[in-house]
Amino acid sequence: MSLCPEHKTDSELYCKDCNRTICYNCIKTGHHGHTFRNVKDVENELKIILKQLEESIQTKIASNNSIVDSIKCGRSTLRQQSDVECAKIDQKVEKVSQILQDGGEKLKLKIRDSNLEQTKMMTEMTTDVEQQTRQMAEFGKQISEMLNTNQLEELLNKTPKLKQAISDIDKDFVVTDYACPRFQDGAIDVESLYKQIGQVHRKGDDRFECSFDVVNQYKYGQATHHEIQGVLWNLDCSLMNRNVQQQGMWKVVNNQNIILRLVSPDVSCKANFTLKILNTRDDSKSLTETCAYEFSNRFSLLYTPNRSEYKWNPQDPDYILNPENGFTNSDNKIIIQVIFSSIDITSHIHKQEF
Ligand SMILES: [Zn+2]
Ligand SMILES: [Zn+2]
Repeated sequence: MSLCPEHKTDSELYCKDCNRTICYNCIKTGHHGHTFRNVKDVENELKIILKQLEESIQTKIASNNSIVDSIKCGRSTLRQQSDVECAKIDQKVEKVSQILQDGGEKLKLKIRDSNLEQTKMMTEMTTDVEQQTRQMAEFGKQISEMLNTNQLEELLNKTPKLKQAISDIDKDFVVTDYACPRFQDGAIDVESLYKQIGQVHRKGDDRFECSFDVVNQYKYGQATHHEIQGVLWNLDCSLMNRNVQQQGMWKVVNNQNIILRLVSPDVSCKANFTLKILNTRDDSKSLTETCAYEFSNRFSLLYTPNRSEYKWNPQDPDYILNPENGFTNSDNKIIIQVIFSSIDITSHIHKQEF
């Protein structure tokens, strides 16, 4: 407790109006009509406030620290993910380069193969010409020996034979036309070459959503196509409120299905995706179905085989369709999202296969 500077006695009181501590003597000289409180009480109250402040600061610091931790974690996750994604691109570029290199080797082989016969002929001709030259040189030696002799009998005997031998091996060699096949430079379509490597999709490019009128929608599903990563999809929903008296053709719906269908013709792909029936009031109550499925659409848009469809039968459609549970919005529609985590195209099927 502090001392009153004026009266040198304990300042046991707090004057609310002057916002200062005072002693009992101070009251006698001033502070008429002011409100007083015991300093101990005031101190205790202030300390309680400080304690609360301290606690809330600690909470804030802890929460900030955890935010920083999660940011750092997110940053390193991002870095790792981008490394992984970039490595995939490197791999694909490598693959495309390999294919190009193989193509180059095939072309080179074509040139070399077609030159093979020509060079073989040339080699044989060289051998023949050289052999004839050697034989001629041999005869040349014999002739010069004979020119130096004066034995007429020998000349008479040998000359016709030599003449015959020379005429026997004498033949003309004709070098035939030769031409190496020429390489014709192909045009580089950079755009399509880049397309062969692939594309980069940002978050948000990986999803679409459809709304379905669960009361008035008698038709089976929606015809809208959604393009995700170059592949066309559509979503059907046959969840119908069975409590509603329906008129028209589609009165009875036995299969309470949500169907994701690949509609791009002549494509096969592996997809990882989540189907989500949105709870408009509380997202944590949204219903989800996550799965991996191999889609194949080997036929035209007009005929889609069952195997390119993924069917989800959500438990208890009546629960979803009951407006009290938060799935239907004010227009009596439910919203279903399709979120892809990956689409790997396994083949573009060529139509000439059929
Ligand atoms: Zn005083
Ligand atoms: Zn006062």
